[in-house]
Amino acid sequence: MKLNSLIRTRFAPSPTGFLHIGSLRTALYTYLFAKQSGGQFILRLEDTDLERLVEGAAEAIYNGLKWAGLNYDEGPDVGGPFGPYVQSKRLDLYKKYANELIKNGNAYYCFCSDETLEQMRQEQIAKKQAPKYDRRCLKLRDEEVKQKLTANEPRVIRMKIPEKRIIEFTDIVRGKVAYNTNELDDQVLLKSDGYPTYHLAVVVDDHLMQISHVTRTEEWLPSTPKHILLYEYFGWEAPAWAHLPLLLNPDKTKMSKRKGDVMVGDYIKKGYLPEAMINFLAFLGWNPGLPAEALAKAGTEKEIYSMQELLKDFSLEKVHKAGAIFNIEKLNWYNQYYMRQIPLDKLTELCIPYLIENDLIVPKFDHSFDIAAMKGPFTVKDFETCLTKEKISFDYIKKAVALEQERSKTLSEIGESVKFFFEEPQYDKSLLFWKDTSEEEIKKSLQTLQKIISDITEKKFKKENLQEIIMPEAEKLSDRGIMLWPLRAALSGQKASPGPFEIAEVLGKEKTFERISFAIKKLD
Ligand code: GLU
Repeated sequence: MKLNSLIRTRFAPSPTGFLHIGSLRTALYTYLFAKQSGGQFILRLEDTDLERLVEGAAEAIYNGLKWAGLNYDEGPDVGGPFGPYVQSKRLDLYKKYANELIKNGNAYYCFCSDETLEQMRQEQIAKKQAPKYDRRCLKLRDEEVKQKLTANEPRVIRMKIPEKRIIEFTDIVRGKVAYNTNELDDQVLLKSDGYPTYHLAVVVDDHLMQISHVTRTEEWLPSTPKHILLYEYFGWEAPAWAHLPLLLNPDKTKMSKRKGDVMVGDYIKKGYLPEAMINFLAFLGWNPGLPAEALAKAGTEKEIYSMQELLKDFSLEKVHKAGAIFNIEKLNWYNQYYMRQIPLDKLTELCIPYLIENDLIVPKFDHSFDIAAMKGPFTVKDFETCLTKEKISFDYIKKAVALEQERSKTLSEIGESVKFFFEEPQYDKSLLFWKDTSEEEIKKSLQTLQKIISDITEKKFKKENLQEIIMPEAEKLSDRGIMLWPLRAALSGQKASPGPFEIAEVLGKEKTFERISFAIKKLD
């Protein structure tokens, strides 16, 4: 471990898919660990697996990290003193270091074709042996190797793994870990196309970029002894290791696309807030583990943590070894909590893209935007001047959003639930009926409401006033639901919605009257 030096961590995703939610958790822990001690957090793209590259994935990684507030000090799009931060732009370096290993006898050329390797594998399986490269190319004489190289035969470079050695290291999360080198394969380091494999590139880059701590998921644990050997071969000091637990589905399988959303973009699109996501992810594999005394005082374990608080309290040592279960209910709980905390103006701004997407409001200017990619206009300033279908003001949108703030779990949910404030609700007349009340009675209620409403001035069209005037009328009936239910149903067209007086205030006198009339017509 590099002592007394600056902590430098890196997040090193492969742009082979959009940013995975588990990767964002890795990035968060990596960021927190560096930043809590004034260190640096670096982004590096590991794009050496050409066949698996996905267009737009790099952008999604940049956007996702920025959305979450995990700002990196160095990276492909921000530069830095150890660049380039994209592996495909560092190929010469990897070649140079692979050749160095050959020169020192720590690696060798392998000329075996894919067919030969497959045959070897099948034979080993048939003999019930663990498939492993049988090192036949290591036995080639120097002359033969030279000849093949001169003939430019396709080849890879493999690392030479020593026999019967125990590689032991202390992982910050997992404690003492040991591997017997006999379990390791002579890993390919440089492929026939001149590209490095992950193993060579990661070691060269972590060293050259002066990474002090490697934080990654436990899938990479079995690779670590190979990496440690490479550090040894190069004569470099190895970083400290922390292998993080995986994120699991509730059925304890590895989180995958087939079981639900796994991409950060999906969650941005659905309207989860970065504060909620960060707080939620922080607890997927870690908790503050308060000492018993502090816990007794606090009553329960504190669950709400801002980024600032996480920076203070997070510790890699307290990260759990066991996989962490991704529980969407908990994420919804966090999101609802944070949505309730947001000032209304801000929340309204955040909801506007969802209203545009649902075609409820139309911006005046030509624009293109993509919620998941975080592109496009998002501020009040941008939208204040935007026209809605009926020239609805920001203030109107704000009032509609206010009624849904407490009830909604995500921004997109608000985008759905405020629909009836922007377009005539469509519903079946059966929605207007309260319990077993007759059609006649409902109609009479609505007609009474029509009359009451036409007598209230626009200025007095406030929920308190409406309540004061309408409630006594409703109480006169055998059941006040006979008046309140059809009113609410007529205004919202929904089975569940905020209360009728609140909705009426937002809609205003004219629209309220129109909707009641529309309901009466349905009953005619
Ligand atoms: N490129 C690897 C991945 O996407 C990174 C592993 C590491 O951090 O060393 O998982």
